[in-house]
Amino acid sequence: MAERDYEIIIVGAGPAGLTAGLYVSRSKINVVCFERLAPGGEILNTEHVEDYPGFELIGGPELAQKFTDHAVKFGLKIEMEDVSEVRKDGEDFIVKTDMGEHRCGAVIYTPGGYPRKLEIPGEEEYAGKGVSYCALCDGAFFQDEVITVVGGGNSAVEEAQFLTKFGSKVYLVHRRQGFRAHQVAVDKLADNEKAEFILDHVAEEVIGDGKEMKALRIRNVKTNETREVEANGLFVFVGFIPHTDIIKGDMEKDEAGFFVTDQNMETRIPGLFVAGDCRSQLIRQITNASGDATTAAVAAEKYLEAQADAKKESAPSAS
Ligand SMILES: Cc1cc2nc3c(=O)[nH]c(=O)nc-3n(C[C@H](O)[C@H](O)[C@H](O)COP(=O)(O)OP(=O)(O)OC[C@H]3O[C@@H](n4cnc5c(N)ncnc54)[C@H](O)[C@@H]3O)c2cc1C
Repeated sequence: MAERDYEIIIVGAGPAGLTAGLYVSRSKINVVCFERLAPGGEILNTEHVEDYPGFELIGGPELAQKFTDHAVKFGLKIEMEDVSEVRKDGEDFIVKTDMGEHRCGAVIYTPGGYPRKLEIPGEEEYAGKGVSYCALCDGAFFQDEVITVVGGGNSAVEEAQFLTKFGSKVYLVHRRQGFRAHQVAVDKLADNEKAEFILDHVAEEVIGDGKEMKALRIRNVKTNETREVEANGLFVFVGFIPHTDIIKGDMEKDEAGFFVTDQNMETRIPGLFVAGDCRSQLIRQITNASGDATTAAVAAEKYLEAQADAKKESAPSAS
């Protein structure tokens, strides 16, 4: 068997990957973390974070830097390489990147995913200035303001309900009459006096004054008439796409396409651990990405220890 380049390879340096890296490197294990863009992950795109314990309000990029510095302090090596394939090779894994192939004993897979965008004018310009993809993260910034929500699945309906805690009014804009969301959630929202459905409409443009969002232009799909809804917020819930296509092998996924793990974050491929946004779970936040990655790091260490013990036991004795 060829020699391993690393004991553990971490794919992605977001909050999950950096937390796993902190724990594994602190245990003096030979580990590398591959990142294709910049260490920090999605929090680099987050203006403010106010729900990460210990920091009442911190800029996303600043928190990302703190995560990175902390992991590097314990010796984590972060290499800028784009991972294109992870596959099992006997007891080892081969992690293929744009720089070559690397052999290791266990993989902690944390490449996250991305919220699907509407791709309409103004969406990018007003991201973080009214446009958001996360109600739990940003809802509290819209106290007593008018909020629009776009989508027709469970996330859209449930998050619209959640946003009525903050907004003075929440409009749910959906392209059809019928929802993909559970009827019970739709009925509950319909009963909420702060919520109003705008059906058979699609969002066409986010309008603002250059500094922040002021209105959402919507179009009736039946009549083609357009109108502006005055609103300070737009929450987009039209899907979240996890990065799952890199792994070759028989992985279990939930119905939304996220990887299923056991409580130790291990997949059904022994030695392959998944944490963070690409894992099947109730919510996607920095806290649970970090928490799950802590479990994955310790479980990966134990996996390697057990593998080494088994090898020792099966080795022919010298006497
Ligand atoms: C706009 C926005 C605002 C948010 N605000 C908050 C908030 O206020 N509070 C909160 O708790 N959560 C917030 N979240 C959610 C939070 O950012 C995520 O839950 C968290 O970042 C997930 O961490 P992760 O490490 O799993 O994934 P990510 O943060 O997505 O990190 C994954 C990393 O892997 C890298 N990667 C991907 N593919 C590859 C590859 N093939 N090779 C190498 N590297 C790869 C990516 O470049 C990225 O750096 C927000 C999310 C968004 C989108």
